[in-house]
Amino acid sequence: MRLDEPRATRLRELSTRFLHEKTITPLGGLALDDAQRVQLAALCCLPLLEFGAGGLRGWSQLIVYPDAFRVNRSHVDSAGVLHEWEDELIGEAWDQGPLILSWADVQADLDEPDAGYCVAVHEMAHKLDALDGELDGTPPLPTAWLRDWAGDFQREYDAFCQRVDRGRAVAIDPYAAESPEEFFAVASEYHFSSPQRLRQALPSVATHLQRLYGASPLDG
Ligand SMILES: [Zn+2]
Repeated sequence: MRLDEPRATRLRELSTRFLHEKTITPLGGLALDDAQRVQLAALCCLPLLEFGAGGLRGWSQLIVYPDAFRVNRSHVDSAGVLHEWEDELIGEAWDQGPLILSWADVQADLDEPDAGYCVAVHEMAHKLDALDGELDGTPPLPTAWLRDWAGDFQREYDAFCQRVDRGRAVAIDPYAAESPEEFFAVASEYHFSSPQRLRQALPSVATHLQRLYGASPLDG
């Protein structure tokens, strides 16, 4: 990963602020030394290089599990029946709540930085998305940009979902078809870890993300 000197300095400043403002809580017998905490902070701050420290607003805790973790889900359907199940996750970001990461998956992303995955960036994209009070695939943006963003994202999201529904090959993780917010979060991972593939698959989305995040460290 390459960052020019001004961006490397900004990342250090953001990471310092992150470590000052957030409590990092390792669970399940995991222990994290100072260098590992700095590494986590830097990964989480990567999507904030252009957006700035305002992207850290609204939450205070980073929880880190040793590996993928299970969460209990429940849902009452329209007939009033309670459904309960378990999900296995590698990351999660609650609105206003903690950001949660699997340490093993963070390390796997670092071992293969150009594979198209980066769980820390994915969850931070959800945090940026939630800043305007709505998790809908759109972070807070100036009005004119927001209009262009909404139109371009909708068009490429619809076309992407259609390809997935028809069982046709897609160049990026089909999980992006889950919802507009997952589409934004997954595309953000590709911006940082496989920008060329993102440009080929979703050219307009790639252009907006380049503006939001700055040049991909892999394009340097
Ligand atoms: Zn997600």
